[in-house]
Amino acid sequence: MFENVQPAPPDPILGLTEAFKADTNPDKINLGVGVYKDANGTTPVLESVKAAEKTLLETEKTKAYLPIDGSPAYSDAIKALLFPASSPVVAEGRAVTLHAPSGTGALRVAGEYLASNHPESRIWMSTPTWPNHAPIFTAAGVAQEAYPYYDAQGQKLDIDAMLAALDGVKAGDVVLLHGCCHNPSGVDPTPEQWVAIADKLAEKKAVALLDFAYQGFGSGIDEDSVGLHTLAEKLPELIVCTSYSKNFSLYNERIGALTFVAPSADAAKAVLSQVKTVIRRMYSNPPAHGAGIVTTILNDASLRARWEVELAAMRERIQSMRSKLATGLDQRSVQLSATGNGFLTTQRGMFSFSGLNKDHVQKLRAEYAIYIVGSGRINVAGITDNNVDRLCDAIAAVTKN
Ligand code: PMP
Repeated sequence: MFENVQPAPPDPILGLTEAFKADTNPDKINLGVGVYKDANGTTPVLESVKAAEKTLLETEKTKAYLPIDGSPAYSDAIKALLFPASSPVVAEGRAVTLHAPSGTGALRVAGEYLASNHPESRIWMSTPTWPNHAPIFTAAGVAQEAYPYYDAQGQKLDIDAMLAALDGVKAGDVVLLHGCCHNPSGVDPTPEQWVAIADKLAEKKAVALLDFAYQGFGSGIDEDSVGLHTLAEKLPELIVCTSYSKNFSLYNERIGALTFVAPSADAAKAVLSQVKTVIRRMYSNPPAHGAGIVTTILNDASLRARWEVELAAMRERIQSMRSKLATGLDQRSVQLSATGNGFLTTQRGMFSFSGLNKDHVQKLRAEYAIYIVGSGRINVAGITDNNVDRLCDAIAAVTKN
């Protein structure tokens, strides 16, 4: 059986990391996979995480299974991170939060739940979107539709085209939105545009599915929640898939959560029971360590304060690298768009659609050992004070020829 199997093509983004690792050029630069790097180009364990792990090591008494939906303390802590205590969603018991193995796991569980319980629902995704969205929902058996999102000419959200396309949404369809720091474009709706989007979904009786993988990487923990809060205020039903890979730098712990907001507390409980049957047949119950870390940090005032400082430092470093890249390109008279390089500093989060085309990307890799995904999306966090000049020189060289 196995001897006739053909190798699968490498994952377009993770495959790039493999190629980067194999490159022997000492000056190589990886702007591919979405992992935060500090000023030294490394992805360290946060101090708040180390401290929480120390506590866990000293206090953990068992490695017995967690419940199917994870520990109640973790669910409560995540709910509090997502919604203010005053939120009617919380006060009325309309939100249920489950522990999921990472953002990817949360999305897949949501997909399996939709396919099992709402087989007529289609999921609408932005063009472009994170390349793993379509495979996740295809594997779960959820039909898909696309809506336009990014205006490549103007480096902005094409809100008119987006809202016009969403007129095609049927009642009970699910619309996937990025909570903040849209991957790959770095372009988010303004607060006013969130209202327009929420109104459109309410009019269409659609369910919003918010993929919220970068809370705190855009402008701040609360500021980045404007989309979530607007949707929660205007829509009776919501699915939120969160990831703590980035904002807690817990990539390999695979820690995330899945939150359902329903029209009533009873409906929320019924949904929770259905999602538990989905999880039971997929992986039975979640891994504990990442959740232990996140819960310990969020429930301890001093650890939480330390984490918030560390999160702000990551966010601010990314913003400063955005400015340095834009300035470096300006100094070399390189314009990555018709309107200059200013868009690099207004895009939010780790990613930027750089405007570099496939040919530029290929030359940067072959001639300068600079690794960027084919769409021209760059991970700004891969830029450091040490490599920004080399990067700008290389971009100047490949774009001028
Ligand atoms: N959603 C988006 C938009 C992402 O960019 C990512 C990570 N690249 C994820 C979800 C999933 O992250 P993880 O599985 O590491 O939690």
